[in-house]
Amino acid sequence: MKILVVNAGSSSLKYQLFDMDKNTVIAKGLCEKIGIGGAITHKRPGKADYHEDIELKDHDDAIALVLKLLTDPELGVISSVDEIDAVGHRVAHGGKLKASMIVTDEVLHYLESIVGINPLHGPPAIKGINACKKVMPGKPMVTVFDTSFHSTMPEKSYIYALPYEYYEKYQVRRYGFHGTSHRYVAREAAKFVGKPMEELKIITCHCGNGSSFTAVKNGKVIDTSMGFTPQEGLPMGTRCGSIDPTIVTYLMKQEGLTPDQMDDVLNKKSGLLGVSGVSSDMREVWAAADAGNERAKLALDILIQDAKKIIGSYIAEMGGIDVLLFTAGIGENDRAFRAGVCKDMEYLGIKIDEAYNASCPRGENVELTAPGAKVRTLVIPTDEELMIATDTLNLIK
Ligand code: AMP
Repeated sequence: MKILVVNAGSSSLKYQLFDMDKNTVIAKGLCEKIGIGGAITHKRPGKADYHEDIELKDHDDAIALVLKLLTDPELGVISSVDEIDAVGHRVAHGGKLKASMIVTDEVLHYLESIVGINPLHGPPAIKGINACKKVMPGKPMVTVFDTSFHSTMPEKSYIYALPYEYYEKYQVRRYGFHGTSHRYVAREAAKFVGKPMEELKIITCHCGNGSSFTAVKNGKVIDTSMGFTPQEGLPMGTRCGSIDPTIVTYLMKQEGLTPDQMDDVLNKKSGLLGVSGVSSDMREVWAAADAGNERAKLALDILIQDAKKIIGSYIAEMGGIDVLLFTAGIGENDRAFRAGVCKDMEYLGIKIDEAYNASCPRGENVELTAPGAKVRTLVIPTDEELMIATDTLNLIK
């Protein structure tokens, strides 16, 4: 069985072709600058990468080019599009849809109806699905939502203390994001410690350019740090995370900002970039801090402290913790970040082997737990695409 996984953004489209029988990725790549130029990078394991600057007017062009390369006699990995059994689409927001599902007209209409609460990621995801439908008519397609793993949250975790009518009228509630990643790593963690997820209290720390932490108790999400949008919670590369909401109206008045301009400040000019003034990239912020830049150091201190706060609150909410795990770009790679977050947490049962944390391999599941510590602390590389391919396979079967 071969499954194509598509992750469409506003000007980009990532793809991976899985051979599910062999559990391998046979090709993957990235279309960039869609609508503003165009380029594709196409990768096959063990072979040289292929890159081409080529005009991509829209997502239809991007998908057509992906299929052309996948079936190309020289650069391809399959002889015909017929070899693709199904397509799995990453969709950031599923609204009230609580599980991955086969794409039907009804599902598409529903996704179109919630674009208002998902303005950044909704339209490109829909374009990606429609583009695939055009060139692969009749091919089974599945949508996998970042929000669905969080749909088990109790009301008290997802209702904001706003007038209740805004929840009823506009569906203003916590949805949570990165769910496909949290689901994948929580399952991997359970396998790693050799216990069913139903018997574990796990905190999954997805820390990348966007970051969210999730409390998974007995296999179910009971709370997560991202909210109505992927803005709430930790400070991120360029997003501010949780702030006093009144700052928003105050700054809009002071600076005469429109709602869109304010959104821009909160989403694109804040976080690591906003505080450090250096970069949104963790490596560059560390480099500046190491060189003595005080604001870069402050940005890192804020991130590490907020990470501790969320972990502490989830331990309180779950009534304990068995597994703490780090994933995504920062979680998987940034040893100093992990050491900072886990520092002085021994009273909660969390203690890592600092020497091993500083030298452990990257790109594989590793355990950082210090001898005698009660909580198992792990690093689990995330694989959202594999989770999407797995859901797709299960649904088309
Ligand atoms: P992601 O969004 O998951 O791709 O993560 C991107 C973030 O991971 C960026 O802030 C990167 O700086 C950070 N990152 C990637 N590799 C490293 C590394 N070796 N050390 C520190 N941060 C890293």
